[in-house]
Amino acid sequence: MSGRIAFIGVGNMGLGMAANQVKAGAQVSAFDLSPAALAKAVEAGCSAAGSVAQAVADADIVITMLPAGQHVRAVYAEQVLANAPKAALLIDCSTIDVDSARAVAAQAAAAGFRFADAPVSGGIMAADAGTLAFMVGCREQDFADIEAVLAPMARAVIRAGEAGAGQAAKICNNMLLGISMLGTCEAFALAEKLGLDGERFFEIASKSSGQCWSLTTYCPWPGPVPTAPSNRDYEGGFLTALMLKDLKLAQEAAAKAGATTPLGAQAEALYALFDGLGHGGRDFSAVLQLMRGRLDT
Ligand code: NAD
Repeated sequence: MSGRIAFIGVGNMGLGMAANQVKAGAQVSAFDLSPAALAKAVEAGCSAAGSVAQAVADADIVITMLPAGQHVRAVYAEQVLANAPKAALLIDCSTIDVDSARAVAAQAAAAGFRFADAPVSGGIMAADAGTLAFMVGCREQDFADIEAVLAPMARAVIRAGEAGAGQAAKICNNMLLGISMLGTCEAFALAEKLGLDGERFFEIASKSSGQCWSLTTYCPWPGPVPTAPSNRDYEGGFLTALMLKDLKLAQEAAAKAGATTPLGAQAEALYALFDGLGHGGRDFSAVLQLMRGRLDT
């Protein structure tokens, strides 16, 4: 589904996403507070708007890809809802707290708009390749249109439920991912101490009940999975700082909902420690080196 798209926030993720909408035939009007980010979007075929208000003024679709809840709340309350045509479909793809997603959805609905929270799984490479997985919180009757809009940027678009459900799915998934990566790293660190060869442990665990995505697709031990960031000195991939952000969101949501998530809390503490030691810019599987006591590598 192409048309006139206003794309707000063309940073690391938004740039590739906007470029894929251009490739699919949409007219994309981009806005970003960073002139450098906006210039890259223009190179990718977008037109540059001078403000959010200008970008959304004649949009059929508004897509936002912003850092956090406060940015999304401000952009919608102060600019999008006041300036976009009422028929425009509003989709926020940022990872934000569930309460902010629900608050923005309620404001949008009160103003007569259709709105979805649609955070993504997959990093910058998936954004560039158009292979993100979207988890969508929206009214059931709006989902088909939302799915069509997201298709050029997606390998999967799944409706999680009503407003906020996309963000809930995202933080539950990433809490599970953080915990499973720490468990995988701990097992490799223990295997090493016990004199077990890392590659041999991988071969056994990947065919045994310890098998999981963190082991077989994203192995923190360099060698067994050539595409994993562990083979590139943990460069790129999914940054520790972003994993920490998502674990914090999960803990905040758990506290508000009265859920007991002791492993999620432990994962947040360990990633906060790793980030505090100056490793926020490394892939999150680099936490293996903390457990091995080898932070110099
Ligand atoms: P980023 O910081 O590279 O991009 C965000 C952009 O928003 C920046 O260019 C910034 O200038 C712009 N911005 C901030 N406030 C604005 C405003 N008021 N108006 C217009 N533009 C504004 O971040 P990113 O890595 O692209 O991540 C975006 C979102 O996607 C985050 O919520 C993040 O958690 C989530 N996410 C990121 C990844 C990843 O691997 N980078 C993966 C999944 C989800």
